[in-house]
Amino acid sequence: MDKLVEALKEHSIQCRLLEKADLGPYLYDGLRRYRGFERHTEPSKLVVVYPKSTDEVVYVVRYANMFKVPIVPVGGMTGLMGGAIPLTDSIMLDMRKMNRVLEVRPEDRLVVCEAGITLAELDERLSKEGLMLGHDPWTKQYATVGGSIATNGMGYTAASYGSMRRQVLGLEVVLPTAEVLGTRYVEDSSTGPSLANLFIGSEGVLGVITKAVLRVYPIPEKRMFLGYRFPSFEEGFRALQRLSGVGLTPTSLEYGEVLDEPSDPLGDYESELFIMVEGVAEEVDAKTRRISEIVERCGGVKTDDTWPHDFWRRRHEVAQRFMNHVLKGDIDRLWGDNIFDFIHVSLPISKVLEYRRLSGEVLSRNRFLIVDRGVWRHPENFSIAYVGQARDNALKMLKELLATAHSLGGSMEYCHGVGIRLADMMAYEHGVPGFKLLQRIKNVLDPNNIMNPGKLGF
Ligand SMILES: Cc1cc2nc3c(=O)[nH]c(=O)nc-3n(C[C@H](O)[C@H](O)[C@H](O)COP(=O)(O)OP(=O)(O)OC[C@H]3O[C@@H](n4cnc5c(N)ncnc54)[C@H](O)[C@@H]3O)c2cc1C
Repeated sequence: MDKLVEALKEHSIQCRLLEKADLGPYLYDGLRRYRGFERHTEPSKLVVVYPKSTDEVVYVVRYANMFKVPIVPVGGMTGLMGGAIPLTDSIMLDMRKMNRVLEVRPEDRLVVCEAGITLAELDERLSKEGLMLGHDPWTKQYATVGGSIATNGMGYTAASYGSMRRQVLGLEVVLPTAEVLGTRYVEDSSTGPSLANLFIGSEGVLGVITKAVLRVYPIPEKRMFLGYRFPSFEEGFRALQRLSGVGLTPTSLEYGEVLDEPSDPLGDYESELFIMVEGVAEEVDAKTRRISEIVERCGGVKTDDTWPHDFWRRRHEVAQRFMNHVLKGDIDRLWGDNIFDFIHVSLPISKVLEYRRLSGEVLSRNRFLIVDRGVWRHPENFSIAYVGQARDNALKMLKELLATAHSLGGSMEYCHGVGIRLADMMAYEHGVPGFKLLQRIKNVLDPNNIMNPGKLGF
């Protein structure tokens, strides 16, 4: 590692060697002990590198190959699956100094930026031109463009604008062989498989994303907020199915059971629907009217107007609290001896209610209680946060919950990636031939296996 640092310093690349006692800030991302995660291996040294340009990243990748030291790309370290956790002595490639906005092109509705900029900084810059990003996750203040692309994240407005995949027009990527790939950045192209797509959701295992060209949107003329209550989850879900059936998509949608305390997973609870519609004024008015009619016909009772407005205003607070606890160093004590964990599965809309029942049975059998349960952005995306004491059972139960989603034709995760957390479920997710194909792609691109080994099941 000393020689590696010397070599990097010869090129004036900012870096530092961390010994065992100083590794703390880089040992964990958002995957924590309270979720039942135990480290099996730990690095003894890390070289933290802060590249300021694509050329510097190229040097780092070359030296990583030469010294056979793995690279872990690092953004805001908010990822929930351990994608940025180093498993052995590694180079932590901290991208946050590559944070420049290179070009804003209002006429083309695109922005060219470096990958280490946070979403909040980028959005702030865009707002000066009357533009905004289509990606607005809880962690907007901390997550970087590169980390969001590498996990194919999804934010509050994804019902309209889609997950990160839909925001990306083009990418610059330093490949594991140190070549620099730049893709074209047009809306549509029918010229073979999309190379940019290969790196969306690739969690740093196929290369380092250094620049992105993103689709951006005009700041909407109008925003309307709606809040409804339903006597049971099922009744409200039928309303969402009805909206989907006529092709009505709000910009933001969140629907969940109202739980004042950890609750029985077999119970049925009053449920709350948040909807936001934005765009040009006439479209917003017409959409809101039709959505209200359908939701009210399905038994929805309007909440007072303050609730949906407050919900929107406070939407990033959970992540701010989470990061404050990380900084204070008490994050792992938040849930005491309990396990607190969550799943985010995607299912055919017709299977969601069945999944709610089956997953409730799995949680109940393992004596876990639900803290949060509902759908997010699309009625197909079903999430559960749960708490319980059975530490030994927690991982087995997690896998049963995900396998149940697979058995209903679903996917085990819709926005946080795989990392190390779900790595051993990849062959179930993609099927054995599918996962073998992914592994072959990895082997061809990264013959020395230097890019983020151990993640995504590779
Ligand atoms: C409280 C909380 C709330 C959250 N809410 C949301 C949410 O609403 N929506 C959502 O999608 N996610 C959410 N997340 C998860 C997390 O914020 C996202 O996964 C985010 O996109 C990660 O970005 P990051 O910059 O922090 O990446 P990191 O955590 O640093 O890295 C994530 C992965 O991307 C790789 N990577 C990072 N930068 C690069 C790069 N330049 N090139 C190649 N690979 C790279 C890393 O190696 C790692 O595998 C939440 C997390 C927390 C803690």
